[in-house]
Amino acid sequence: MTQRVIDLRSDTVTKPTPAMRRAMAEAEVGDDVLGEDPTVNLLQQRTAELLGKESALFVPTGTMANQIAVGIHARPGDELICSAISHIYVWEGGGIARLSGVTTRTVEGSSGLIHANDLAGKIRPDDGHYVRTRLVTLENTHNRGGGRVHPIEDVAAISSWAKAHGLALHLDGARLMNAVAATGVSAREWGRHFDTVSICYSKGLGAPVGSAIAGTAEAMKAAHRLRKVFGGGMRQAGVIAAAALHALEHHVDRLVEDHENARILAHAVEATEGLGLESGMPDTNLIWVVVSPQLGTAAEVVSRLRADGVLVSALGPQVLRACTHLDVSRSDVERAAEAFRRLGKVRVSA
Ligand SMILES: *Cc1c(COP(=O)(O)O)cnc(C)c1O
Repeated sequence: MTQRVIDLRSDTVTKPTPAMRRAMAEAEVGDDVLGEDPTVNLLQQRTAELLGKESALFVPTGTMANQIAVGIHARPGDELICSAISHIYVWEGGGIARLSGVTTRTVEGSSGLIHANDLAGKIRPDDGHYVRTRLVTLENTHNRGGGRVHPIEDVAAISSWAKAHGLALHLDGARLMNAVAATGVSAREWGRHFDTVSICYSKGLGAPVGSAIAGTAEAMKAAHRLRKVFGGGMRQAGVIAAAALHALEHHVDRLVEDHENARILAHAVEATEGLGLESGMPDTNLIWVVVSPQLGTAAEVVSRLRADGVLVSALGPQVLRACTHLDVSRSDVERAAEAFRRLGKVRVSA
């Protein structure tokens, strides 16, 4: 019997549900470059309200949202500070430098999370020898950090520090709603500590495409200009905005299920000889797994799991990532957990 493949490579692999597809098919649309798409306008309004900001702008990707933030807060020759393993720095093709001419100063932090005291002394002196420090970016939840939630107290402390020093603060909130689901702290409460916030509809929320950036009306005016420059002005985008609206309405409350499912997988990882959790029990839907060399390389483990009907990503020579999401059920996850456990058994008997 061939079983359905369980795809845990990313929470971006979800397919639109029938109800979401209906919402897309029925969306009222217009030319959004002219500001005339009612569905995009509604999504932007809802997103601004959700994040407690004056205004929001719909963009094709989370990468574009983050890169727009860099461009509106910093000028060429300025510097931003972020964690050394943050998405904006590691996984956006060097866009900080290429698109905005901005340099980066990274801080180590732990599991991608930085504290106000990691930032002390990191502002360059006001002297012509140096770049101008302009911006700090945080990521919540932190992808490479194991899906960790950035504690709100630390966010508040960093926000006060940034304000006191005249620095802008941007949140890469690709998975902010996972942080909301994990803590009960509202998106508005997280958002209030930042000048701009980005959010992805296409990760755990399960929309096929789309992200947004939110901030003051003035910042979003600058963001709108940059979206055009970066080639992100879209026309009858209501068709995809409708999917994002549907996701906000129907796919937020269920994120706690993804987190429970992630813990089931994490327990299987912990119970399996040769596998370990890189940053402890997951807070949310991402599980980063360290593969011990006795078990093989990450790539070898990926192919053994694939043969067992489970897809995960090798994201380092000895590192795997598994993500839970809308398209994996509790019973899928239990099957995947069994596949993980079998990896250990194979090693023991070999
Ligand atoms: C996926 C992701 C992004 C970028 O989103 P894309 O839509 O893939 O460009 C940004 N930040 C984090 C933390 C992400 O995981």
